[in-house]
Amino acid sequence: MSIKENICKIKTQLPENVTLIAVSKTRTVEEIQEAYNEGIRDFGENRVQELIGKTDRFDSSVRWHLIGHLQTNKVKYIVGKVHLIHSVDSIKLINEIEKRYAANNLIANVLVQINIGREASKTGIFKEDLPEILEECEKCNNLKVKGLMAVIPKGSEEGCRMYFTEMRHIWNNVKEKNYNNISMEYLSMGMTHDYKIALEEEANMIRVGEGIFGKRNYNKL
Ligand SMILES: *Cc1c(COP(=O)(O)O)cnc(C)c1O
Repeated sequence: MSIKENICKIKTQLPENVTLIAVSKTRTVEEIQEAYNEGIRDFGENRVQELIGKTDRFDSSVRWHLIGHLQTNKVKYIVGKVHLIHSVDSIKLINEIEKRYAANNLIANVLVQINIGREASKTGIFKEDLPEILEECEKCNNLKVKGLMAVIPKGSEEGCRMYFTEMRHIWNNVKEKNYNNISMEYLSMGMTHDYKIALEEEANMIRVGEGIFGKRNYNKL
């Protein structure tokens, strides 16, 4: 199926409050343009270098999402270029984002990434560390937490659902706590193979790559 057909198909399945992020890592400007022509304005990239190489090629109606791990020493490159950072996962990173955005008089909107499957291969914090992270964010003036993000372990439908349900519970618990400076607007979870389950568990941002652009070829870059 073409990029156009894939987008149309996914859009028919989305409730109105859900943002579809087209994950454009490894994709060319031409491929991204095709998705743009179908009305997509939210694009996700997982590497800073690749993201900043692409932002200049599109107009300012595009919202760029940084969905991959962010190293502290790369924060300076993305200031003012991303709509939402999905991958906040340490106090060091929070402090660096706060410092760099304050220096530019800008606000950084971020999600805290939770490694809900506790996988050694994945980044993100463990759920028990969330209060400490949020307390640090409460002190910030230029960093605003807008929700939570997760990449779950690969597995069966029941396995996926279990992790998504757990994320939904954590998200709702934080909502009830009324932290300063922290809103739980977004729950970013669900990818090509599991976004339908994520939607049933109240995800309101899904990140779909191969389901839109076809199989990724990492050698192409
Ligand atoms: C690559 C990636 C996706 C998209 O994965 P697909 O399986 O292609 O849909 C979503 N989220 C993150 C964090 C990613 O790195």
